[in-house]
Amino acid sequence: MAQTTPKKGGKGNGCPLYKACGGCQLQNLTYPEQLQYKQVKCIRYLSRFGHVDEIIGMALPLHYRNKVQAAFGMHRGRIVSGVYQSKSHRIVCVDDCKLEDETADAIIVTIRRLLPRFKLFPYNEDTGKGFLRHVLVKRGFQTGEVMVVLVTPTNLFPKKDGFLNELLRRHPEITTVIQSINGAKTSLVLGKEERVLFGKGYIEDVLCGCRFRISARSFYQINPVQTEVLYGKAMEFAALTGEETVLDAYCGIGTIGLVAAKGAKRVIGVELNADAVRDAKQNAKLNGADNARFFCADAGQFMTEAAKAGDKVDVVFMDPPRAGSDLPFLKSVAALAPNRIVYISCNPETQARDLAFLCKNGYTVKMMQPVDMFPHTNHVECVVLLSQRRATEHIDIKLDLTELDLTAAETKPTYDDIKAYVLKTYGLKVSTLYISQVKRKLGLEVGEAYNKPKSNKSKTPQCPEEKEKAIVAALKYYKMI
Ligand code: SAH
Repeated sequence: MAQTTPKKGGKGNGCPLYKACGGCQLQNLTYPEQLQYKQVKCIRYLSRFGHVDEIIGMALPLHYRNKVQAAFGMHRGRIVSGVYQSKSHRIVCVDDCKLEDETADAIIVTIRRLLPRFKLFPYNEDTGKGFLRHVLVKRGFQTGEVMVVLVTPTNLFPKKDGFLNELLRRHPEITTVIQSINGAKTSLVLGKEERVLFGKGYIEDVLCGCRFRISARSFYQINPVQTEVLYGKAMEFAALTGEETVLDAYCGIGTIGLVAAKGAKRVIGVELNADAVRDAKQNAKLNGADNARFFCADAGQFMTEAAKAGDKVDVVFMDPPRAGSDLPFLKSVAALAPNRIVYISCNPETQARDLAFLCKNGYTVKMMQPVDMFPHTNHVECVVLLSQRRATEHIDIKLDLTELDLTAAETKPTYDDIKAYVLKTYGLKVSTLYISQVKRKLGLEVGEAYNKPKSNKSKTPQCPEEKEKAIVAALKYYKMI
């Protein structure tokens, strides 16, 4: 296991802001202890499917984030930029985060210092006054290209030319600047409307020998060093010979699919985010991958259609968001019956739920490899290889009746699933409390611990109407009502 921390053997990464920020949850552990913690987490959820290999740590677990986001606001008459303190709207001023790319952090500090010179100020949600809400910086680690996105409430940009000239003079490494217009009261950072102020409006980076175009709103793995390790494992598991039809589900900008395209006959990618699909198509051209095609669709619906049409797929890569996959997708994968499934996940809990389904429907787990993509945080990524079970093979899974119960999997999404759905579909954050209130209202079963006031005197917040509607829609989506 890798063992590199600022102070050898010291706890965490030595950040003085860790309590106020809350972003690094494992500061009380040395890096080897963090890896141990993550290994145990994976074992807890996944060992009933077989052996979990030793987690692959990062050689230098610092400044790995290639995407940095900072909120802007005022505190005691000074402009501050950084992260929201957990559970509050107060901004913790961050100048040099131990996880973030140092160039990106320096650019954000420059922007903060330049604002008053141009009489520009952070946007204030309560008064509706001010200019800057957030800054997002993305950097291609291999290409050095840098994108700066300024998020503003309207498309106005007073003193734009002067401000941009000064920013570019101080940071000649910036290759593109975008203004993202977001006037909505939402927890989402970027708006739908974008104006390119400088450069080509996107950056490029190189990963596993392929070149990728990355735009402001599309997903790109945030730790490129460990992504090469993760994808390397995924390719090893897929064992492509050049003859296979490969499906890259939840493909983002096509990274996994295009790396696979070099060793496969044909690749089909599916992704919900239209910007990412546009990038994936460009990326196929950029890499001369004329055997790869990308589609903008819900992965579950797309797979259902493919299964109905009787399409033949040999290998499926799936890399869903934290909430995991959904039943239409899993059922269709089982119907399409690829020889191998390579399942990459950042949430072993939902991964275990989905693996249980696949194991009940013709597959055996062959390999499980955790990779530390997010040192110092409590997140862990795991890549799992499943292969189709031959009639002579027997299933050898330790039974956990609650999780393996298929009816439960069909009808009972977790609270995290509902939260993720509401956030993805409506851009709203909802609490477990609100979900349980809505479920109770609808006469659905609610766990004992939920929705009980802490004491007789304490006031329980009530779910606002807008959020209630969104939760009802999620419950309908999961066929709970
Ligand atoms: N495989 C990519 C992206 C993984 S992140 C990579 O490694 O870079 C998960 C992706 O799933 C995101 O791009 C998200 O937009 C997409 N996604 C979320 N829900 C989806 C759905 N229902 N159908 C298809 N794609 C979805």
